[in-house]
Amino acid sequence: MKVFAAGLAIATLLTLGTTAAQQAQTPTIHAKAGRRLVIRNAMVIYGNAKPPYGPVDIVVQDGLISSINGSSEAAWTAADTVIDATGKYVMPGIVNAHMHWHEERQTGVPQPIQYERNLYLAAGVTTVREVGGDFDKSKRWQAESNAHTIVAPRILVYPFVSKGRSGSPAEIRTWIREIKQKGADGLKIIGMDRDQLEAIMDEAHKLGLRTATHIAVEETTAKDYIELGVNSIEHFYGVADAALSGIQAFPPDMNYSNEIHRFGRAGELYAQADPAKLHKVIDQMVERGVAWDPTFSIYEASRDLVRAQNQPWFRDYLHPSMEEYFKGSSENHGSYFFGWTSTQEARWKQQYRIWMDAVREFASKGGLVTTGDDAGYIYSMYGFGISRELELHEEAGFHPLEVIEHATWNGARLLGMEDRLGKVREGFIADLLVVNGNPLENLKLLNPYGADVMTINGRQASNYSPLGPNDKVQAVRGGGIEWTIKDGIPYHVPTLMREVKEMVSRARAQRVHSTAGQP
Ligand SMILES: [Zn+2]
Repeated sequence: MKVFAAGLAIATLLTLGTTAAQQAQTPTIHAKAGRRLVIRNAMVIYGNAKPPYGPVDIVVQDGLISSINGSSEAAWTAADTVIDATGKYVMPGIVNAHMHWHEERQTGVPQPIQYERNLYLAAGVTTVREVGGDFDKSKRWQAESNAHTIVAPRILVYPFVSKGRSGSPAEIRTWIREIKQKGADGLKIIGMDRDQLEAIMDEAHKLGLRTATHIAVEETTAKDYIELGVNSIEHFYGVADAALSGIQAFPPDMNYSNEIHRFGRAGELYAQADPAKLHKVIDQMVERGVAWDPTFSIYEASRDLVRAQNQPWFRDYLHPSMEEYFKGSSENHGSYFFGWTSTQEARWKQQYRIWMDAVREFASKGGLVTTGDDAGYIYSMYGFGISRELELHEEAGFHPLEVIEHATWNGARLLGMEDRLGKVREGFIADLLVVNGNPLENLKLLNPYGADVMTINGRQASNYSPLGPNDKVQAVRGGGIEWTIKDGIPYHVPTLMREVKEMVSRARAQRVHSTAGQP
């Protein structure tokens, strides 16, 4: 872009987010790398839970935050790109610490990878940790994302540790050395016996590979992983297991291969944990620096199925491949809702209360809590899942500033990128979100669909505002992230969402077409 005042691409923003008029046009600066970007008049949420401040001007030079509030008129007239953030909040990009790339959900129904990429960027995710996927493809996408030849978040690749043919510790060690050679950023561990886990952790430490674990119901529990020095525990599994008196009280007909059994009984786990033992497990996690990435949002259907099945964004944004996949099927992981009962939901609600209290206690004792959505399963959509995850952290008792810390600064610490990512700080990578409104007032504003906001006489206002007798009060759709900026490149969220909607419409039309001729 040219560097003179008349050529400035100034993105003037409407006050209430994603209106139809705004969706119709893509600003010229969308997805374009410039040398210098200035965000004017922004309120800043820094990333580490200190109070917001501003308004300030943020200057981004060559993908890094170069100065905050240091910009003079001269600085911003020398910019390629100016984003006016008046009335908006700027926060660091979100780290989704637990996700998977999918090019298909229902077998035989392709889902374009750009669909998932757009949704994550639209939800403010600028960095993802893929914990298990197609390693070679993810490495290629990682390089393309770093080179900005694709529109996608930054990617860290943690492949599933392979047990190989024999599952012997020696074979596992060889596999780890090879995957490190091929560029693994870390390892994802699932379902290991103690001898296998010892080999994995020893090899990982020697090679300097970080580790994330999904502890299944198995020989090893959090106790083993804490002792052997894993970096993060994912989900709820393993922690309460280490606090049981003996093992979980499974009925004799328990079959772990049957997901109704597996997920039904999983909802009974935390109630069976001995509270005193659970406090101790939490203490040990904190002591050994083991992070907890709870992924609350991915299990939510188990406690409230009707809510999960009727999310309003499904209408325009649910890809038919996922729509098919979510329907009850013993073939599809996480599609276990056959006759789901009130008792199963009640148990899961109780499980959430105890689990959330445990995560809250863990954080208050100094533990590192992060956010991940694990979407693409169990009625959770990419992007919408991470947005819901933040709301559930608030439900767990965290202040919205702490929730945003989990999603940004804590994520950077988990990845070992705390010297350059996760704060609105000079010298840091310019991964920034420009939010329509104040997410500390309502985390729902971060949802890619937008949120209900109240207006008084046409102006957005807190719903605790005093009302006069002649004030006209309305509920309108507002909020949303306006710009997701990654490495200094601005992505216009309404444009990303319009593209998602188009992908979904095309796929639905094709599906009707391709199934029409079948018997
Ligand atoms: Zn996962």
